[in-house]
Amino acid sequence: MSRASASGKARPVTRHLVIVLGDQLDLQASCLDGADPVQDVVWMAEVAEESTHVWSSKPRIALFLSAMRHHAQALRAAGWPLDYRRLDEAGNLGSLAAELRAAIDRLQPQGLVMTAPGDWRVLEAIKGVAAETGLPLDIREDRHFFSTVREFAAHAKGRKQLRLEYWYRELRQRHGILMVDGEPAGGQWNFDADNRESFGKDGPPPIPAPARFEPDAVTRDVLDLVATRFAGHPGALADFAWPVTREQALESLARFIDERLPQFGRWQDAMWTGEVWLFHSHLSAALNLKLLTAREVVQAAEAAWQQGRADLASVEGFIRQILGWREYVRGIYWMHMPHYLERNALAASRPLPAFFWTGETDMACLGDAIRLTLRHGYAHHIQRLMVTGLYALLLGVDPKAVHGWYLSVYVDAVEWVELPNTLGMSQFADGGLMASKPYAASGKYLQRMGNHCKGCRYDPAQATGDRACPYTTLYWDFLLRHEAALAKNPRMVMQVKNLKRLDEGKRQAIQARARDHVVAVCGPTS
Ligand SMILES: Cc1cc2nc3c(=O)[nH]c(=O)nc-3n(C[C@H](O)[C@H](O)[C@H](O)COP(=O)(O)OP(=O)(O)OC[C@H]3O[C@@H](n4cnc5c(N)ncnc54)[C@H](O)[C@@H]3O)c2cc1C
Ligand code: SF4
Repeated sequence: MSRASASGKARPVTRHLVIVLGDQLDLQASCLDGADPVQDVVWMAEVAEESTHVWSSKPRIALFLSAMRHHAQALRAAGWPLDYRRLDEAGNLGSLAAELRAAIDRLQPQGLVMTAPGDWRVLEAIKGVAAETGLPLDIREDRHFFSTVREFAAHAKGRKQLRLEYWYRELRQRHGILMVDGEPAGGQWNFDADNRESFGKDGPPPIPAPARFEPDAVTRDVLDLVATRFAGHPGALADFAWPVTREQALESLARFIDERLPQFGRWQDAMWTGEVWLFHSHLSAALNLKLLTAREVVQAAEAAWQQGRADLASVEGFIRQILGWREYVRGIYWMHMPHYLERNALAASRPLPAFFWTGETDMACLGDAIRLTLRHGYAHHIQRLMVTGLYALLLGVDPKAVHGWYLSVYVDAVEWVELPNTLGMSQFADGGLMASKPYAASGKYLQRMGNHCKGCRYDPAQATGDRACPYTTLYWDFLLRHEAALAKNPRMVMQVKNLKRLDEGKRQAIQARARDHVVAVCGPTS
């Protein structure tokens, strides 16, 4: 039996349809192990569902589509027969499952092969199609991570509480990273205490310009498509300059190691008005699209330390994010999905304020973080955790609404990493599975870590009165609302104890001020 290929030549019946998802853009991916260009066909599809199941931002949609189209070019150049469905092609069926079914009808493969998807929803959809069509589905390990989901489950087994620190140490030892003669380099596992500086009143030192990649013809086509097809979606495209190929991602990595890593640790938590890039790596999107592997990023950072180009505190701080947090959240996600999505330990139910989609608020820190996010599809970790996330936590926003926002707006947003960070770390909706305590803080924390308060109409020291900082008011209101539950958490004891400093009159004034704020931002019924 044979079939005509696009070139008109006869080709044998398709043995495997090799499925490549939009965040699996690697020519060395495990799905291609043992594949044969004569018998197998690689399949990729752009579908609207991936941009509309949440209200995906324009930069996020553009990055995925452009990186996919560049990967398609790389696959073809490497000689793989590719069945690629474009979003703007007539008759595009709009969902992965429907397009996969159609490809199976067209190509009549004998089996399906893929690298394990990152997201539970996508895995279920593909398994559903395999079951419907009766085709065997061979799911291979994703080699982009240091650990496997099974290894994390083994680590978690029998532990009452999971903690990043123990998982991180286990991986450092297993992979010999920053280890010297079996001991952690520098005699300690963790340099967090050295990595919490703010910029001080003079502000940041000169910040190296971030790596930018001017859109080529492929990206420009995508930007036009996104601007028209997703005109109503949030975010902007004018500054789009993300790496969309492996070569560009490697260049970003090299620039980070040379220019920013030496300062990364020291100012990892610092903020400054209008400054979004600072000394962070901006590599999350390239990592999540699999344009880079976690291993090569970690190795490049470790080599910089070995060669004396960056100090240990910075390098350890950076490696902890990737070897530690990134692998940890993936483990949590796969251990607890799909039920994780439903968690709401603090019974938070308020709607997400509308200004999250515009940045139009008089809270200087929050407005800045949201506007930068919508402009670039990026914000650094402390803006996500301690500005937008903290505000939603203190306000009591429904964690699913918060999750929807984070999954929509960031170019690096994919559910396996976004959901545990949002629901677990920032909203404490998993009741402490991911983080040992809620990241609750008042406006004074934000005042310490940046300069926004200077240009704000509010005062972070005040919880009541006209100039009361909403963070500070909501912080006390949050502790009052959850006093009984939080008092049981040993890491919250000091914060809860401080409530005793508030007499009844002050408590009532805080609660009244908090209610007024909630009504102003969420509407009268909240
Ligand atoms: C509420 C919330 C939502 C988040 N959503 C996402 C998301 O959708 N996608 C995403 O990749 N990261 C997410 N993060 C984690 C983190 O904020 C981003 O990875 C980071 O800000 C990306 O910027 P960067 O590449 O400059 O990171 P850097 O500060 O340079 O850190 C280096 C790398 O470490 C990894 N990393 C750092 N922190 C984390 C973390 N907490 N979890 C997992 N990996 C981490 C990333 O791959 C990152 O590129 C979220 C964090 C919070 C608090
Ligand atoms: S006063 Fe409050 S709202 Fe204003 S910038 Fe400071 S922390 Fe943010």
